[in-house]
Amino acid sequence: MSGARIIDGKAVAAQVRADLKGKVEALKAAHGFTPGLAVVLVGEDPASQVYVRNKGQQTKEVGMNSIEHKLPAETSEADLLALVDALNKDPAINGILVQLPLPKHVNAEKVLNSIDPDKDVDGFHPVNVGRLWVGERALVPCTPTGSLILAKSVQESLSGMDAVIIGRSNIVGKPMAALLLRENCTVTVAHSRTRDIQSVVKLADLVVAAVGIAEFVKGDWIKPGAIVIDVGINRVEVPGGKAKLKGDVAYEEAAAVASAITPVPGGVGPMTIACLLKNTLQAAQMQRGIEVTA
Ligand code: NAD
Repeated sequence: MSGARIIDGKAVAAQVRADLKGKVEALKAAHGFTPGLAVVLVGEDPASQVYVRNKGQQTKEVGMNSIEHKLPAETSEADLLALVDALNKDPAINGILVQLPLPKHVNAEKVLNSIDPDKDVDGFHPVNVGRLWVGERALVPCTPTGSLILAKSVQESLSGMDAVIIGRSNIVGKPMAALLLRENCTVTVAHSRTRDIQSVVKLADLVVAAVGIAEFVKGDWIKPGAIVIDVGINRVEVPGGKAKLKGDVAYEEAAAVASAITPVPGGVGPMTIACLLKNTLQAAQMQRGIEVTA
């Protein structure tokens, strides 16, 4: 039986979007312009097409302009760089997102690093990574931002908590560490070479799992009363049935000991696009020298 509070990521994401919608309206009324988000999709990857469609829809729902550039899989790196350059220079575009993965013949790092850091709403550019770590205002990657909002929806102040992040990727684990340090947590980043990982996790008041292995974290690794944020999205084949989405945490077991936990699906997932829209508004306000309310 689950004793934990289930953190409803869909509901929190809807609140974030509703709040943004009000702020976009206020911006339009006060300054007479509408923030614009450009999304660049190269090729026909079905999952990417779904993400891009959802991003476009939600961008419009909060009152911002969505501009989609759908390019064929054989688009050259030079052409892609030229498009990013044009978007960097276009004042109607406040945020640029290049959907990953890119085709193999394109150097993804080169393309991402060509985005103007002030329009880099994914927060992947080294300039934004640096700004985040030194404590300057930065565009911060969306998934860790969403994970932090969910943790704070349970407990407003995380100050002094022992936090363990499992995973050290550039898009989740590392920025999560920076964000939790900023919240005054004592942060440990565990990864594939960590020794006795379950003892490390057992010390955590807050666990953020971003491993990419279904049900990697077991219930008996969790300290009673801990908050568990499960970032993992793993497609698991069910014999004779449709594939199911599983998190990186063994949900039922962990929910029996945690004080609060995010489900998969319906936890961190819905927060990611909401935070992308938040970043777009923030980018627009920063570019125009307007007070940041996002
Ligand atoms: P990644 O593969 O880039 O990184 C995984 C990390 O896990 C690595 O740093 C690695 O050191 C660590 N790891 C791997 N095996 C391990 C082991 N046995 N023990 C301890 N650590 C181990 O993955 P990522 O991009 O950070 O994504 C992690 C998970 O989060 C995936 O399931 C991904 O689908 C999901 N994800 C979800 C969202 C979302 O919107 N909710 C966004 C991004 C990623």
